[in-house]
Amino acid sequence: MTISIEKHPCFNDESRHTFGRIHLPVAPKCNIQCNYCNRKFDCLNENRPGVTSKVLTPHQALLYLDKAVELSPNISVVGIAGPGDPFANPEETMETLRLVRKNYPDMLLCVATNGLNVLDYIDELKELQVSHVTLTINAIDPQIGAEIYAWVRHRKKMYRDTRAAEMLLHNQLEALKKLKASGITAKINAIIIPGINDRHIVDVARATAEMGADIFNCLPYYNTRETVFENIPEPHPELVTSIQRKTSQYLPQMKHCARCRADAVGIIGQDNSDALMKQLQEAAT
Ligand code: SF4
Ligand code: SF4
Repeated sequence: MTISIEKHPCFNDESRHTFGRIHLPVAPKCNIQCNYCNRKFDCLNENRPGVTSKVLTPHQALLYLDKAVELSPNISVVGIAGPGDPFANPEETMETLRLVRKNYPDMLLCVATNGLNVLDYIDELKELQVSHVTLTINAIDPQIGAEIYAWVRHRKKMYRDTRAAEMLLHNQLEALKKLKASGITAKINAIIIPGINDRHIVDVARATAEMGADIFNCLPYYNTRETVFENIPEPHPELVTSIQRKTSQYLPQMKHCARCRADAVGIIGQDNSDALMKQLQEAAT
């Protein structure tokens, strides 16, 4: 089996114009509530209001992948990134990864998660040769986290306020440790929310670097209507650049993330083609 991480367009700047990625939208539910996310409109882990034309079952996702690869043979990576959280829908997520690995032994596999519930699945992720996992960690201080998360639901229990943020943070850091012990590349996404965590992102980078994270992605928060944060403006690009500069002393930066849709397909930065969207609709029927 030849899985070349050089072909991952998100992690290798040089491959992003040559190789494409596909997100399979098989994970509709979420197990936390971020104050910048409106579940009515769906949302994506990577802070892009979410956007998937359809949610697919694992078998539909495989069918869709078959068609997408026919139309776009440069696809080198399959990711699961929502439209909710992959591990709030662990059966669907793991079944999809198994099916893809069985049918596409050379494909890079990647998942993006809030980190609450991934820990129990890391051994199997390793077995399936999932090479990249993104954890979105917006705060390393539960007091700040409590301003960002309205609630967290874990093992059928609801948590709120600081307790919710502590639970989430604990699980995120345990997951990061285990990912690194398992040899999986760990990317940290941190959403910059002005007035909430913009002065704290550098602490997130420092702490996660100490625990072995590989790459850091500072993402500007995306203003979505009907959320607790709807009156918070998006960060100015200069603020984003200055935070990237400060955090780069701790971790290499990913700067070309396009905050892709949960059903993104093709070259990063290019819109989904009509032909591929038609395949998505057909796969879902
Ligand atoms: Fe929305 Fe993602 Fe936060 Fe869940 S983890 S509430 S899907 S932004
Ligand atoms: Fe890559 Fe960012 Fe798009 Fe995910 S959202 S596929 S990390 S460019």
